[in-house]
Amino acid sequence: ALTAGIVGLPNVGKSTLFNAITQAGAESANYPFCTIDPNVGIVEVPDERLNKLTELVQPKKTVPTTFEFTDIAGIVKGASKGEGLGNKFLSHIREVDAICQVVRCFADDNITHVSGKVDPISDIETINLELILADLESVEKRIARVGKLAKQKDKDSVFELEILEKLKEAFEADKPARTVEFTEEQMKVAKGLHLLTIKPVLYVANVGEDDVSDPNSNEYVQQVKEFAKNDNAEVIVICAKIESEIAELEGEEKEMFLQELGIEESGLDQLIRSAYHLLGLATYFTAGVQEVRAWTFRKGMKAPQCAGVIHSDFERGFIRAETVSYDDLLSAGNMVAAREAGNVRLEGKEYIVQDGDVIHFRFNV
Ligand code: GDP
Repeated sequence: ALTAGIVGLPNVGKSTLFNAITQAGAESANYPFCTIDPNVGIVEVPDERLNKLTELVQPKKTVPTTFEFTDIAGIVKGASKGEGLGNKFLSHIREVDAICQVVRCFADDNITHVSGKVDPISDIETINLELILADLESVEKRIARVGKLAKQKDKDSVFELEILEKLKEAFEADKPARTVEFTEEQMKVAKGLHLLTIKPVLYVANVGEDDVSDPNSNEYVQQVKEFAKNDNAEVIVICAKIESEIAELEGEEKEMFLQELGIEESGLDQLIRSAYHLLGLATYFTAGVQEVRAWTFRKGMKAPQCAGVIHSDFERGFIRAETVSYDDLLSAGNMVAAREAGNVRLEGKEYIVQDGDVIHFRFNV
């Protein structure tokens, strides 16, 4: 499964946020085969469409799709020099598919800041620099190897060398790989280099309790948003402390608490949603009387691959995908009406599944 790693300097609110994540964690009854790793938090992806489908179909059971966060603790400064824990920190980042960097935007004199004062941009740059230095080292090593072959006019090497040089130039200017512009062909090669700074990034601005209802009044949040524009990164605002309180509530109680705070959606739900999109993930549904369920796939995946998300047998024996879009099904009111309206399609092997498709797979066993 794809996973987003949570990173940040010490004392910025990572553990508080991660506790909220595990606290709000998915019903383990639904996922009996998940291994329990203390650094992994499995959350359900909030999706209003699943609730609507449940109303429509009245199934025995409704199962949301899930998503994983990994807590990447560890020493940050000096990590690229490969000393002890720092090295481990980088290797953990290498394993995740996206990075959520928690940035301290709350002032609290009782909580010390590692560099003496609250300065989100300097915090971001500290972490980014370690990742950039590690990438610079990998690219330089690669240039030494590929450069020789390029001199011998090896076509692929000439092509790759140009990409490597472009990356090196960016790194030397303290720019992450995700800000470098590539053609589609170049991008394929660049992705194959497994760089740390090419992974998508979400800055999680952690504000104080007083700023939740109007985060834009927080000057630090503005700074982070401004910075992210040139960094090809996204930003969301949360208050980790409040999230850990919200995570203990459910249903009506949760709604009421959010209303009191003057916010529509919990920061955690926003975080899940943003990370999900950041990873290029989307959702399709199966809607039977036994079970209405949301499933995660990667955008661009074809029908057989999506069937394989449910079970590998579904992929192997794939025949057709009986498909209706969520919107069409909802406006028709039920499956029979949707079919009469001509909105239910029989799609084959080459069909690229769309976010919100409601699918019934037909397959050979
Ligand atoms: P970590 O070192 O990044 O994991 O940070 P922690 O989650 O342990 O938080 C460090 C301290 O900051 C703890 O005392 C938290 O209670 C406090 N803290 C975290 N988030 C907030 C917040 O939103 N507002 C305030 N006032 N304190 C917070």
